[in-house]
Amino acid sequence: MIEPEDTTGLCHWCKYTTTKPDLSIASNLLSWKKLELAKRRLLIQLEQLGLPPYTADVGKTYPLNFKFMGDEIDAEGNEKKIMTGHDDGEIVINIAEADSVHREQTRVLLGEPQRTLIGHMRHEVGHYVDWCMVQNIAPEEYKALFGDYNLDYQEALDLHYKNGAPADWYLNHVSAYATMHPNEDFAETFNVYLDLMAIATTAIDQGILNIDISADSKIQDDIQRILDIAIMASEFNSDMGLSPLLPEQLPQPVIDKLAFVHSLRSKKKVDSLKKFLEQSKANPAAIAEPVAPATIAVEETAAAST
Ligand SMILES: [Zn+2]
Repeated sequence: MIEPEDTTGLCHWCKYTTTKPDLSIASNLLSWKKLELAKRRLLIQLEQLGLPPYTADVGKTYPLNFKFMGDEIDAEGNEKKIMTGHDDGEIVINIAEADSVHREQTRVLLGEPQRTLIGHMRHEVGHYVDWCMVQNIAPEEYKALFGDYNLDYQEALDLHYKNGAPADWYLNHVSAYATMHPNEDFAETFNVYLDLMAIATTAIDQGILNIDISADSKIQDDIQRILDIAIMASEFNSDMGLSPLLPEQLPQPVIDKLAFVHSLRSKKKVDSLKKFLEQSKANPAAIAEPVAPATIAVEETAAAST
């Protein structure tokens, strides 16, 4: 809906898109529509859950925006690849991801269990929440669960693609890719947290699940009940020859990480963020810049941004 005083002609959700695809290419219009639908679903969920950019006024200090771009050919005829990724509040999605054939080919190539537009967005916005909130208010909790995010990102990326994930990655991580770097572990876990909350919200709305997913609830006690719904839906999917609804395994260390993500919505953490933002305003120089490796933007090279 367009606000009465607005002069841009854009609704609240449209304004988050700062770069739209090149519409002189006919097929880009349909791709853009699919991207906008996924973006709206993402933003509405973040608003419902009270997560950034809708926590206090964090979105003012750390704005979030989306760029939907296709690969480009420069004046010399060289192809410039557009990498899906996050950098300082800017989420870039290559519009090729809106093409289901391209997406399925990439999924098979990378050995991913799932590859969806909403999954890309949930993963990338995880990097945004990591950058604008988590590193600012809970660095020690973060490090204890996910590891030290100051670890050199490029080195970790190179090592990951040289050696692959450890064989026993599933004991502590939600995906093989999550072992690459603590920033990726957080983003992958955040993605699964939003998946779980989406399933729980639908199931609660449909009257088939009765749990409390509000901000200060103890979610670790109810994750199994959400998984029961996911298993049921996966069985229906199997009946129709489709892949599981939620392919990830959730061992205890992953449940602990998910509980931490859930705690970001708690009054205690929201109050910490408010305090941090006030201090930043009073003395911007005293606040260290959170670590947001620009190289995160290259993760699409072979990443499993499920
Ligand atoms: Zn990532």
